[in-house]
Amino acid sequence: MLSPENGKEVCILDLMNFLTLAAKTEGTSGREGHERTRLQPYFEAVAEDIQETALGALIGRVGHEGPKVMISAHMDEIGMTVRLIEKDGSIRLRSVGGVDPRILPASEVTVHTAEGPLFGVVGAKPPHLLTPEEAGRASTMDDMYVDVGLKAEDVRKRVRIGDVVTLVGDVIRLGDDLICGKTMDDRCGVAAMLLCAEELKKNRTPAQVYITASTQEEVGAFGAATAARKIAPDVAIAIDVCHASGAGASPARSMPITKVGLTCGPVIHPALLKIAKEVAQANGIDVQVQASGRGTATDADAIQPLLSGIPCLLISIPLRYMHTTVELISEESVRQAGKLMSLFISQLARRWEEIEWY
Ligand SMILES: [Zn+2]
Repeated sequence: MLSPENGKEVCILDLMNFLTLAAKTEGTSGREGHERTRLQPYFEAVAEDIQETALGALIGRVGHEGPKVMISAHMDEIGMTVRLIEKDGSIRLRSVGGVDPRILPASEVTVHTAEGPLFGVVGAKPPHLLTPEEAGRASTMDDMYVDVGLKAEDVRKRVRIGDVVTLVGDVIRLGDDLICGKTMDDRCGVAAMLLCAEELKKNRTPAQVYITASTQEEVGAFGAATAARKIAPDVAIAIDVCHASGAGASPARSMPITKVGLTCGPVIHPALLKIAKEVAQANGIDVQVQASGRGTATDADAIQPLLSGIPCLLISIPLRYMHTTVELISEESVRQAGKLMSLFISQLARRWEEIEWY
């Protein structure tokens, strides 16, 4: 693949570079335009017929015969929006998606104004000034404000209700294999999808694979649902993150960070899961199956009941510290997830006529 960052030919996606640029690109749910523009050249490098949906999802097709397979990885990130500007110029926030107020105090943020980005910090009442009652409870959004260091009238001139506010954070490597930073959820899934697309293209896999960078997953997966209606796939794969063990995550709800997750449950089609498990085993990919009792909280939930029903598979990349600026993933897991997806699709295409769905 031609690396869109430097124009040099690279055989595989430079993940560290891809994720570092991802973390610098604003794209809260419903406002994914910048991230979509960033992803466009990657899509052009591996896919044809690139198109956008009315809700901003980016779709590209790899291959032109065989079963129609949609892959959905969401490009939106959690973030915040300006709710109110106080008399003193401090900015009150509302979360977009699942932002945990406990991680916000002392965070650096960018307020994306019409005139350009404005740097700020999230302030909260100093501990010395807290009442005993305040000190004993967790902070909420109402306890927090953004300080951009300007006079109130200047804040009012530049900042508008509804301006997007994103967290700021660098991407760093921890140890040999782990990558740490913001927006790993789910831009590492987008990366795995691109790695998969590259393999499928190289191997001329007999399937029509629609890679989709979906939108608004963090607020209800509307971007994936509308994209799926447009594509009308025979089968869909959602690729997203799940909880990696560590930081008190219970073993029942998490898995080692070096594995690749598969999910079973009502949203996941058993025939697809069976093939995915067989493919993983035959190719030495270390997977762990997790059980869901109802929804999966991913794009799969939105896609499955559409049209006359779309059989879904969910592949997950384990991640520690979800929805923070220090989301931690294993580079090898991302590559293995991409490999599993491409091998699964190849197998699916080969066995398409003889799959026993139930
Ligand atoms: Zn996600």
